[in-house]
Amino acid sequence: MIDCGEATQLRCKRFNIKLSKIDHILISHLHGDHYLGLMGILSTMHLYGRKNDLFLVGPPGLSEIITIQLRYSETRLNFHIKFSEWIPNAQQVVMENEKLTIETIPLDHRVPCSGYLIKEKPKKRRFNKALMPVNITPVDIARLKNGFDLLDDEGNILYKNSEVTFPPNPNLSYAYCSDTRFKPALVEQLAKVDLLYHESTFADDMKDRAHETFHSTAKEAAQMAKSAGAGKLLLGHFSTRYKDLGVIIGEARSVFKESYLANEGETFTIPAL
Ligand SMILES: [Zn+2]
Ligand SMILES: [Zn+2]
Repeated sequence: MIDCGEATQLRCKRFNIKLSKIDHILISHLHGDHYLGLMGILSTMHLYGRKNDLFLVGPPGLSEIITIQLRYSETRLNFHIKFSEWIPNAQQVVMENEKLTIETIPLDHRVPCSGYLIKEKPKKRRFNKALMPVNITPVDIARLKNGFDLLDDEGNILYKNSEVTFPPNPNLSYAYCSDTRFKPALVEQLAKVDLLYHESTFADDMKDRAHETFHSTAKEAAQMAKSAGAGKLLLGHFSTRYKDLGVIIGEARSVFKESYLANEGETFTIPAL
């Protein structure tokens, strides 16, 4: 889960997202609309008898805020929280497992703020089932999946890798850029991201206000997606002044066609090729 505003727990209930399935919560910054739901979620996880560790990633101060609340309510959680606080303005890996890495995206906001870039690791080659060699050992299967040919004892090629396997599926990526001023320097880190979430608090009429308040406009978000060569852009964090979001999506699409509003409850799938 990335960011956890006040009503997150209610939304999880409404959309049938099980809290027990969440092992990592990443917080972008310590403005209330991005983390005030955290304590409630931690309490509910405790009441439901969670035992598994919970990994909590965020800015400096997050562990102190949570620990103090637990201390004064004399709550001893029946699961461990593993805190990890990133360094502001640095690009660093905050999580890695065998399938993916998550790194921070240093943003430009009034308080220390990082987005998160989730990248799949390179995948193995896929077998061409029709041409799959019969009776081969697990070691040989691993060799083929890693791109090697299969050789006989004399070193002759038994199975040429390119003939019995297909290239791996592409490594997909998702970038979440929460509250930030338009920051052109992000283009390099966001290059070719498949799905980009970028805040667009304002429309173009409030461009100056966006800059003053460390936020972005829809056009700026779209410019970022275009410059980075993103696959799709998701817009969110709209100012309540816009009752009709038509202006936001219209302006974004005038710059980057594959722009969408992050409507509550909607699912966006990162397309595999
Ligand atoms: Zn903020
Ligand atoms: Zn915000």
